[in-house]
Amino acid sequence: MTAHHERAPLADILIVDDTPANLELLNIMLKDRGYRVRAAISGQLALQAIEVEPPDVILLDIMMPRMDGYEVCERLKAQESTRHIPIIFISAMHESQNIIHAFEVGGVDYITKPFSEQEVIARVENHLKIVQQRRQLIESYETLDRLKSRFIRSATHDLKNPLNLIRGCISILKTMDYETFTDQGQQYVEYIDQGARQMQSLITDILDLAKLKTGTSLSPEPVSLEPFIVDTMAAFEVIAYDKRITLTAKFPDEEIIVQIDREQMRRALDNLLSNALKYTAEQGHVVIRMSKDETAGTVHISVRDNGQGIAEEDLDRIFDEFYRIDTPQNRQIEGTGLGLSIVKMIIEQHNGSIEVESGVDEGSDFRIVLPLE
Ligand code: ADP
Repeated sequence: MTAHHERAPLADILIVDDTPANLELLNIMLKDRGYRVRAAISGQLALQAIEVEPPDVILLDIMMPRMDGYEVCERLKAQESTRHIPIIFISAMHESQNIIHAFEVGGVDYITKPFSEQEVIARVENHLKIVQQRRQLIESYETLDRLKSRFIRSATHDLKNPLNLIRGCISILKTMDYETFTDQGQQYVEYIDQGARQMQSLITDILDLAKLKTGTSLSPEPVSLEPFIVDTMAAFEVIAYDKRITLTAKFPDEEIIVQIDREQMRRALDNLLSNALKYTAEQGHVVIRMSKDETAGTVHISVRDNGQGIAEEDLDRIFDEFYRIDTPQNRQIEGTGLGLSIVKMIIEQHNGSIEVESGVDEGSDFRIVLPLE
């Protein structure tokens, strides 16, 4: 046994300076501390080194020919994968103007030459500590998020059985003994029924969303869209008839086949159709229109209604979980506020997108865009 232990490198530091003497000085200084040090003699070479392997911290000279330190920094900050790497500027210039600009382009610190060894080490260590704390924070957040969804899922799941019991009893009451109830008694049973239905939708939606979030993969298969949409619409004919809303569809002449997960896409369309019928007054119109954009290689499915519409300020938020537009009128309409979040997630898992155009009292047009391939 020897007293000397080979220490694992503490962290990976990249030094960028066009003066070899400076590189050498910093290199020795940091290597002595056990850091893994890489050196780059120009901005261009630094960017290449970072792309191969992003370092934990960068010491960056400002004055360099061709590409100066500011530009290197700006490029790194503009890119998602390198944005978080702390950059400490090093420069002989100490006019406050340069210091300010260094921070403006995204630097976290500034060292002026000539520097003392202690100063460089102290600043590097500080920023490495922040990097480490940031990583720990992200990890804790992810763990918390996982635990939260697991808890929601199991708690929601456990509500299923008691709720089924309640619903079962309600339906027995309604068939068997309903006539013996007073009017008020019947009214209470009706309320319980309504509440139980609402709870059932909430449980189904929360579990659906949780399942989608865990990223369970889709099972796509080639589906001819016209019969698929016609079939989906059929389930809504009774509701439309009851509200005397016309429910129609327009399809292109040619057959359009796309790769979709039948069950999921069905759920997305169900939600859009159900909303269109819910938020449209009696005698309104709901139209589904499908079209193909040959140049973009996409197919568009639009669900349009001439109902109450959505105000500009709510448009950004309607896809948020649990967001419902709170109007006296809407309070009478059953819903969970999860439908559109589910739709959005399903469409995005199909590499598609969803947009909406709407105005108060003008109706709404929800448009799904899906890739043809
Ligand atoms: P909900 O269960 O409340 O219907 P959604 O996520 O499906 O939840 O929709 C969120 C909100 O967006 C609804 O509460 C409603 O206010 C509004 N909304 C959705 N679709 C329409 C529509 N076709 N017309 C008007 N408002 C709509």
